[in-house]
Amino acid sequence: MDFDLIIIGAGPAGLCLARALRGSGLHIGLVEQHRLASLQTPAFDGREIALTQHSAALLRQLGVWPRLGEAHIAPLRDALVLDGGAGHSQARMHISHTLSPKPELGYLVANHHIRRAAFDAAMATDRDSPGTPPTLHSEQQVTHIHTDAHGAHLTLASGTTLSARLAVAADSRHSSTRRAMGIPADLHDYGRTMLVCNMTHEQPHHETAWEWFDHGQTLALLPMNPCPRSGLPRSSVVLTLPSQTLQPLVDLPEDAFNAAMAQRFGHQLGTMRLCSTRHAYPLVAVWARRLVAQRFAAVGDAAVGMHPVTAHGFNLGLRSIDTLAQEIVRAHQRGQDIASPALLERYQRQHQHASRGLYLATHALAQLYTREEAPARWVRQTLVGLGERFTPFKRAVAASLTGLH
Ligand SMILES: Cc1cc2nc3c(=O)[nH]c(=O)nc-3n(C[C@H](O)[C@H](O)[C@H](O)COP(=O)(O)OP(=O)(O)OC[C@H]3O[C@@H](n4cnc5c(N)ncnc54)[C@H](O)[C@@H]3O)c2cc1C
Repeated sequence: MDFDLIIIGAGPAGLCLARALRGSGLHIGLVEQHRLASLQTPAFDGREIALTQHSAALLRQLGVWPRLGEAHIAPLRDALVLDGGAGHSQARMHISHTLSPKPELGYLVANHHIRRAAFDAAMATDRDSPGTPPTLHSEQQVTHIHTDAHGAHLTLASGTTLSARLAVAADSRHSSTRRAMGIPADLHDYGRTMLVCNMTHEQPHHETAWEWFDHGQTLALLPMNPCPRSGLPRSSVVLTLPSQTLQPLVDLPEDAFNAAMAQRFGHQLGTMRLCSTRHAYPLVAVWARRLVAQRFAAVGDAAVGMHPVTAHGFNLGLRSIDTLAQEIVRAHQRGQDIASPALLERYQRQHQHASRGLYLATHALAQLYTREEAPARWVRQTLVGLGERFTPFKRAVAASLTGLH
């Protein structure tokens, strides 16, 4: 065997798993199709990731958090859910951090900073980093995988073959290795695309995230630290529309785009200005029916590909890594097989249990807000209105946002 364990994909999940297994004494391989330079200094991709308190704690344990840099971590104190157009009939639900034991519900960090910090942590050779870094095969795509009773065998696009006792797929929600291993997955295409970009605005955001289910569009505002150049309040702006309606907005000249966004936000934020590139993500959720096969496991989005509306994709990805890494390290310390069917089964049971409810609730919410018929609008408005008056419900939402159950 070349390795004890090979991780396929050096996205945030694969990198965090590589770091979690450092110091275990296991010989780890990491295969990524992108170039080394794009792992060391990943490009801005528009995503601002809402991290729960629980995820922040896991990232601290992994040594990723201190590598993010204070300036790139924004506190998320409160959340506001709005339904309907601006005005009297608008329903509001305010989730305050005071419903949780912490001074903030969570944090916002750009995805490219998470990737950079996770890569640094996985590959670091400083005294605070345990063990040795994984052996990295960058610019190498896994094209074939098969497993037998003894190991997992991978073929890379270059023709190189690698083998390990266990292969872990962290190769995105559209995981080709999960498919090659014969694992079925339920895929839901919402027929909507999400536009994400950073904008400055005149009015303060009070470190409050908005999720606004307006008629014909869904808007979100994720509070960031002030713009370092202008000092103005800055947010990550998220607009969800049917795909064919969204593209013309992505292509609008900057001034026209600024005006269009200020109008879509009902001018509640004053003048808005684009301060980043614009990125579009088609919305597809994926539920893998199984997370494991012979000498194979899936983590991160390859295990559960969430719709972003409840901001839980990477948070669940970190949970999958924590669960699997603990099982693997325990088995290795006891001299047991790190890919035994019983171990893999336990991982699958625990992670599916942790994610199923959230996946189904997110899917139901995403379907409800993509519907524009009067009954769906009425249900949304009623839910938000009732939620505002029912503190235990708000407390449950706060617990979900903090990840402290
Ligand atoms: C708009 C948007 C907003 C989001 N907001 C939030 C949020 O607020 N909170 C939250 O928790 N989550 C959020 N998410 C989800 C989060 O971004 C994902 O859960 C996370 O990035 C998944 O990480 P991953 O490592 O599993 O997969 P990916 O980031 O997809 O990485 C997969 C890696 O595998 C590599 N790869 C793929 N195939 C191969 C192959 N065959 N061989 C070699 N390498 C391969 C790819 O190049 C890539 O580097 C959001 C997602 C989107 C789209």
